[in-house]
Amino acid sequence: MTNPSTNPLAGIPADEASVRKLDRAHVFHSWSAQALIDPLPIASAQGSYFTDYEGKRYLDFSSQLVNVNIGYQHPRLIAALQEYAGRMTTVSPAFANDARSEAARLISEVAPGDLDRVFFTNGGAEATENALRMAKLHTGRHKVLAAYRSYHGATAGAISMTGDPRRWGAEPAMPGIVHFWGPYPYRSAFHSTTPEEETQRALQHLRDVIMVEGAATIAAIILETVVGTNGILVPPPGYLAGVRGICDEFGIVMIADEVMAGFGRCGEWFAVDHWGVVPDLICFAKGVNSGYVPLGGVLINDAINATFQERAYPGGLTYSGHPLACATAVASIEIFKDEGVIDNARRLGTDVIGPELAKIADRHPSVGEVRGLGVFWAVELVLDRETREPLVPYNASGAAAAPMNAVAAACKQRGMWPMTHFNRLHVVPPCTATEQEVREGLAALDEALDTADEYYTGS
Ligand code: PLP
Repeated sequence: MTNPSTNPLAGIPADEASVRKLDRAHVFHSWSAQALIDPLPIASAQGSYFTDYEGKRYLDFSSQLVNVNIGYQHPRLIAALQEYAGRMTTVSPAFANDARSEAARLISEVAPGDLDRVFFTNGGAEATENALRMAKLHTGRHKVLAAYRSYHGATAGAISMTGDPRRWGAEPAMPGIVHFWGPYPYRSAFHSTTPEEETQRALQHLRDVIMVEGAATIAAIILETVVGTNGILVPPPGYLAGVRGICDEFGIVMIADEVMAGFGRCGEWFAVDHWGVVPDLICFAKGVNSGYVPLGGVLINDAINATFQERAYPGGLTYSGHPLACATAVASIEIFKDEGVIDNARRLGTDVIGPELAKIADRHPSVGEVRGLGVFWAVELVLDRETREPLVPYNASGAAAAPMNAVAAACKQRGMWPMTHFNRLHVVPPCTATEQEVREGLAALDEALDTADEYYTGS
């Protein structure tokens, strides 16, 4: 008998061509026309960088899918994962488990208000899906209001709540989900001219939607505290508090989807902390353990928890509270505390990214607006600053998306991996990035934006 190797990939060709070939032969990728993609094989990653098989190193200004908040291969997180894997790798949700209990305790501790219980999931979509179910059962109502320009995940309920083109392929969607416009001062649905006006009009619009839909039919309002993929839309002053007030007035559950915005991304534990607003449910995933093992969850307040004391909650997952995932969450939260990760993210936003992006906007006519907080920023590119016509149309693909693809290619050529969405570049490095790394990435961005300026048609 041959001695079995501890490396499961031992003996399998590990050169770039082989990885690429096997991927193309057998892997079916998310959101993609399979024949039109050519995913870059990544060989290794460390800190804020990943490296391809040719040895080219990229500064990751996307944090993968805005989830590697703690950076790659954090030694303490890897050690915790290995240590716990050596002890126990799987326990069903029907048992109690030390890693799960401690993760729930720590997450509750950093969460605001009375959000003291955690229902664990494998990721973000299952979190919003379960929050939706909890709100309906808690209130006995069936409708949910969700914002346009939002993403809540790709399972049935989550994609139905989503307010962007990713929903279209799943329609007809779940009945009872009604979309409304949230605030977006740069492209106001309400023709507002100031942030204050935007808050006031967006809240009035929400009230109007509730009036015509019938408050007594509405279980929940779900929103991304800071809208992520759809534009890093930071709510103007007073908006979240206003939504909280409306929810209280009509007995509606307020669900904050912090899958992307939470766990340091906005320079706070949770983005709602920035405004001192306490939702009834918070959905989290991504940054809770930086995706070292899949994990998400719903933070539940006392009132909703009380609903399910004598009555069973009709929902569950084989891997709810998976011990390995929970062990990495425990380690990650401890690292966040010990290494000042939240403060680092906040300072990078106020002292480096914000001021530098403002200078970049001054230099490049194609930059219509920069906005964000913490390590969560958008650079919105336009053809004309006056008309604000986007550099590429909404939901552009193929030839129509060429200008954005050219800007992204210019970033990559300079060793910076950007995140792009529609006509925007998102500056979303790990929360652990150093000032020097961020400055290096912003310098690459500055140069790459010359490419965007070439398309500019304004005066
Ligand atoms: N909610 C938000 C705000 C997200 O950004 C995402 C993913 O990007 C999700 C939910 C879905 O998370 P997952 O892809 O882990 O299911």
